[in-house]
Amino acid sequence: MIKPDNSGTDSAKHNAAMKQRKGHVDAKIERADEERGVAILLTGNGKGKSSSAFGMAMRSLGYGYKIGIIQFIKGKQLSGEEIFIREQHPEVYFQQMATGFTWDTQDRAGDIAAAEGTWAHAEKLLADASYHLVILDELTYMLSYKYLDEGRVLNALRNRPAEQSVVVTGRGGGEGLRDLVDTVSELQDIKHAFRAGVKARKGVDY
Ligand code: ATP
Ligand code: MG
Repeated sequence: MIKPDNSGTDSAKHNAAMKQRKGHVDAKIERADEERGVAILLTGNGKGKSSSAFGMAMRSLGYGYKIGIIQFIKGKQLSGEEIFIREQHPEVYFQQMATGFTWDTQDRAGDIAAAEGTWAHAEKLLADASYHLVILDELTYMLSYKYLDEGRVLNALRNRPAEQSVVVTGRGGGEGLRDLVDTVSELQDIKHAFRAGVKARKGVDY
């Protein structure tokens, strides 16, 4: 068996590099001294937007924080996260777009009414400082389809309580939203099992 060599130049170089890196990171940590909630946009074509948002829900719940989740979802596919929240965390404010909404509907007026009805829940949460985290899952599509007024949405996000964090998921969403949020992560679709013929998996994809 080859033993790791801690005395060689590689190891010394590594240690020096790590020390320098730690210095940089420490300096950055010291500079980030502002305490406030953040707005996060998770976008792009790759998988992982909603599941990341639900990961933050789990983090907040772990600390006993009050959270709200609004899903502007397409169709009525039941998901593991919905089951988990409804059955094990009934205290979470959880709303989905009014039933009857589907992407293939030709009823634009009906879609707008459904989006606005759902947005009213979001607005309520965004005005309530007792919510530590608000997740607006798939909200971007409401903006791209112009089902919701962009100004109204951005205002509510901008004027939310200082300590509240908000996570928006979905592709696109527009420049206004990107400018407003503090953090934008774009999930890149490098490859996806679905394209190789693998069916969506329970507990992984929904
Ligand atoms: P997830 O919920 O898995 O985090 P997502 O929120 O990033 O996915 P959506 O477009 O909202 O992406 O996903 C809807 C469904 O499509 C989910 O079941 C997801 O796993 C799946 N999906 C996401 N990205 C892709 C992709 N690039 N190709 C095929 N299916 C995808
Ligand atoms: Mg999603």
